[in-house]
Amino acid sequence: MQVVTAEPDLRAALADARRGGHSVEFVPTMGAFHEGHLSLVRRARRAGGLLVVSVFVNPTQFGSGEDFETYPRDLEADIDHAEREKVDLVFAPTTEQMYPEGRARTTVQAGRLGEILEGEHRPGHFAGVATVCAELFNLVQPDRVYLGQKDAQQLAVLRHMVADLKFPLEIVACPTVREPDGLAMSSRNVRLDAGQRRAAPVLSRALHEMARLVQEGESDVAALLRRGRELIARQPAVRLQYLEIVDPQDFTSLDRVAGEALAVVAAHVGPVRLIDNVFVGTA
Ligand code: AMP
Repeated sequence: MQVVTAEPDLRAALADARRGGHSVEFVPTMGAFHEGHLSLVRRARRAGGLLVVSVFVNPTQFGSGEDFETYPRDLEADIDHAEREKVDLVFAPTTEQMYPEGRARTTVQAGRLGEILEGEHRPGHFAGVATVCAELFNLVQPDRVYLGQKDAQQLAVLRHMVADLKFPLEIVACPTVREPDGLAMSSRNVRLDAGQRRAAPVLSRALHEMARLVQEGESDVAALLRRGRELIARQPAVRLQYLEIVDPQDFTSLDRVAGEALAVVAAHVGPVRLIDNVFVGTA
């Protein structure tokens, strides 16, 4: 396995693979690997080809007052994991390489999808995500990019970017990996103390309860949200930011569940902001 930070080294490795007739499979990450990341890597491995994983904590997708400084980082452990998973190449650029002037002069805006829900609570976040992914996609030139359903709105933003800007690649969505108690795996979970960690699974419990009610015939979104909020309110350590049921394509809010629907949640638990989502639709 190669670990490269410099762009010429990356380009040379990619050119070798291309000459050998291999496809390029790409998993972009911010590191501090957990089983969620590894599930993407394993899915990408199954495709064959050159498996590239990037590790870059992108400063431009964090707002001021967010957790860029305290975001978990452990490149050594990530490299060990990658080696075990038979990754071919880890691309770990420095911030100076990616953003010599602190930010990109040219940015990719995510449109309306970038301004609602996560975008409303994290202004500029999706422009940061879309811009860094455009850069990474141009550097790596992958055939396929593997992304987690855990970050459902990010997945939709990047699907739109790839379609709108004609990136010649396919996006492969991978299911959310959860802890045994249902908590969606996240690099940020390590920052929860024991009490917060016990409280946090209420988010996935509420989402799954809403899915269950839909299966039982409830289609009124107001009633579903009432039940979800009631459950979350029982955990005072969990401060709900939003709970909504949306159309999974464009993330507009729904009044009734009839067909595809996604329940999305964001909450602060101690020092950490957690997000999660579950399909609750009838389709
Ligand atoms: P991150 O390092 O948090 O930027 O995540 C890198 C990739 O891993 C993104 O495509 C995420 O959606 C995905 N991911 C993060 N957590 C999970 C999870 N629990 N299950 C599946 N994919 C995940």
